[in-house]
Amino acid sequence: MLNPVVAIDGPAASGKSTVARKLAALLNFTYVDTGAMYRAFAWLALEQNLDPADRVSVSGLVERAKFDLTVSGGAVRMALDGTDPAPFIRSERINAAVSKIAAIPELRERLVIEQRKLRNLAPLVMEGRDIGTVVFTDTVFKFFLDADPAVRASRRRQQGQTDAVAARDQADAARAAAPLTMAADAIPVDATYDDADQIAAKILQICRDRGLSAAKVEAL
Ligand code: C5P
Repeated sequence: MLNPVVAIDGPAASGKSTVARKLAALLNFTYVDTGAMYRAFAWLALEQNLDPADRVSVSGLVERAKFDLTVSGGAVRMALDGTDPAPFIRSERINAAVSKIAAIPELRERLVIEQRKLRNLAPLVMEGRDIGTVVFTDTVFKFFLDADPAVRASRRRQQGQTDAVAARDQADAARAAAPLTMAADAIPVDATYDDADQIAAKILQICRDRGLSAAKVEAL
């Protein structure tokens, strides 16, 4: 039987990551941050002095690079050309490059394949921009989180980061390959006023109403 997937999409700094993480803990599912995968490739491209907007360079990189995902203890670990990129992907340099590389179809195709494989390993809460529209269109647990743009920008500032949130959303929504958009069958969730615990509880309730139950913890 296929493992269940909860898909959470939405624009930058909408609170998706916090909510998805909490929800995964409540359900005992594995949390998957797909933005981290695009960020990892942006990091590798910059390391190799490649232009993240150049399709030919980036598709060459996508062909050459070794990318492995492993699941353990409810989390996903990445290895890109043998390095865990996690410590390097939250910088302002990466914030500025990631939407460019995420528009390259060859990269998206490769990452979608890897993201789909994760379902064979564990039940998932997966967050990103195209989870409900491209990666797992068949799931009935599909949400789109949004929040007032001013609130989103101020969240990033509170995290001490410079991140042109509105420009990134615009680029993500305007690209030809898997643009950021709400799936027709996704449930919209306004994250402007409620805190992450309230939103996670609300999504959990909707999932339960639709027949989702928490994963059983394997006996040790
Ligand atoms: O979620 P996060 O803000 O870390 O994502 C960084 C960028 O990665 C997004 O702005 C977008 O360009 C890209 N992305 C994407 N598709 C996803 C997840 C992220 O294009 N599923």
